[in-house]
Amino acid sequence: MELFEPYQVEPYSDFSQKSVQDAYKEALESVRGQLGQDYPLIIGGEHVATTHGWLESVNPCHKEQLVGRSAKAKRKEVERAMDAAWTAYESWSKLPMSARARALVKLAAVLRRRKFELSAWETFEASKSYPEAEADVAEAIDFCEYYARQALKLTGPLETYDYPGEENTSFLIPIGVGVVIPPWNFLLAILVGTAVGPVVVGNTVIVKPSPDTPIIAQKFMECVAEAGFPPGVINLVTGADADIGDLLVDHPRTRFINFTGSLETGLRVHERAAKLQPGQKWLKKVYVELGGKDALIVDETADLDMAADAAVASAFGFQGQKCSALSRLIVVDEVYDALLEKVVERAKKLSFGPAEKNNHVGAVINQKAVDKIIGYIENGKTEAKLVLGGGRGDDAGFFIEPTIFAEVPQSASIACEEIFGPVLSVMRARDFDHALELANATVYGLTGGVISNDRSRLERARREFHVGNLYLNRKITGALVGVQPFGGFNLSGSNAKAGGPDYLRLFMEMKTVAERY
Ligand code: NAD
Repeated sequence: MELFEPYQVEPYSDFSQKSVQDAYKEALESVRGQLGQDYPLIIGGEHVATTHGWLESVNPCHKEQLVGRSAKAKRKEVERAMDAAWTAYESWSKLPMSARARALVKLAAVLRRRKFELSAWETFEASKSYPEAEADVAEAIDFCEYYARQALKLTGPLETYDYPGEENTSFLIPIGVGVVIPPWNFLLAILVGTAVGPVVVGNTVIVKPSPDTPIIAQKFMECVAEAGFPPGVINLVTGADADIGDLLVDHPRTRFINFTGSLETGLRVHERAAKLQPGQKWLKKVYVELGGKDALIVDETADLDMAADAAVASAFGFQGQKCSALSRLIVVDEVYDALLEKVVERAKKLSFGPAEKNNHVGAVINQKAVDKIIGYIENGKTEAKLVLGGGRGDDAGFFIEPTIFAEVPQSASIACEEIFGPVLSVMRARDFDHALELANATVYGLTGGVISNDRSRLERARREFHVGNLYLNRKITGALVGVQPFGGFNLSGSNAKAGGPDYLRLFMEMKTVAERY
């Protein structure tokens, strides 16, 4: 008998049903009653108070509303977390794989039981609409379920040839303590996936969430405790980037770094981690999953309604703050005007306002993001033609209207740089060849898509569109764990392929034993 049932992607709720909406609103009200609390660090299973002040997490839709405060760590707490994680490693790494896999499945069950509650926290902390928040929690559950099953495949000896007179065995072992550094945009899913992947194969971790979203990390730690993980296997250290970012990356006892975030920070992490520190005994393994400048090509054979739906969903879902979000819509000349009209028409209909009301487009994460995005919009006005939006919403939150620029030239900053907001550049291509050339003219290579009814072009895109995740005749966001392993090419990162069959192997090393008899 198998230990677990076959893996299945966590289903989504149908938010068109009133009863489902009501259940979500109930969760929002329950969470609203818990806002504004203080949370300590969690190290070695203990709640650790600090004297360095607090990270304040606010609701992006209502800047004045405090979601909660999480203690700030400094060097002393980082050292304590290192000690706790290495102590836990002693026993956790020696457990059978099945015991650790079972812990992940228990964790998935706890997350599932608390699905709407956790989603509601995301609505408050990151301005996610109901379906966007639920999809993030579902993805976190999927990571636990999928990695639990994948881990069981890594237990036996690896396939090698026999040699006369000797017993030769090669097998995989865990590597040690890692630092997990997720971004704020998939605030639970990426945090959970990048932590439990290494953990299930025997490593222990220190999780350092984004200072913008520490409270969901605290809620995750409640689930970790409820699922019965031994103390010190997963530690939570919240703090300012300036205080603990470099410290965790540089630390001589950090064995690996599992980072997801921007190109700029990722390059810094990559470079610093390469430097040997006094007392360090290994080469750090470093995975950096970074940004994108994702393009969707639409040609003259495409179903333009389907293309417009795909473009609007990919560009404006979660305010365009997905690494996979569409930011360059590249349209073949013949259908450019017709498609642009349909895209603008649909984008105009998107509701815009607070996430608690389940608007399609809510607030962006913080003031820094507002300033950056507005800066690009101002650039865009000089580089291309503004056809929709460009303004701010209610000043109570970090709102930016869904914005579309047309006739965007390849040289424009809004055609080249990651904006990470609700801003879409629509570019005109002479023909499909030119469209493909424009799509590949980027330093990134994360997601991309083609909407076409021409079989030979779809096949060509498979070969020549250089992105880690290519989508044909559908939206370009929403990769599913175990179904569409996720990770990009070029400066989009190390291509770790989260939710893929090779992921766990990245956090193990192979030992080979040869015995002559
Ligand atoms: P960011 O680079 O600002 O921060 C990412 C993480 O790094 C955060 O936890 C942050 O606190 C931490 N950090 C900041 N300075 C640090 C330092 N000096 N040392 C160590 N850690 C440090 O990115 P963000 O704004 O949180 O996330 C958005 C970015 O993430 C976008 O570029 C997006 O495309 C990318 N992203 C990529 C993927 C992917 O799978 N490729 C997925 C989601 C997001």
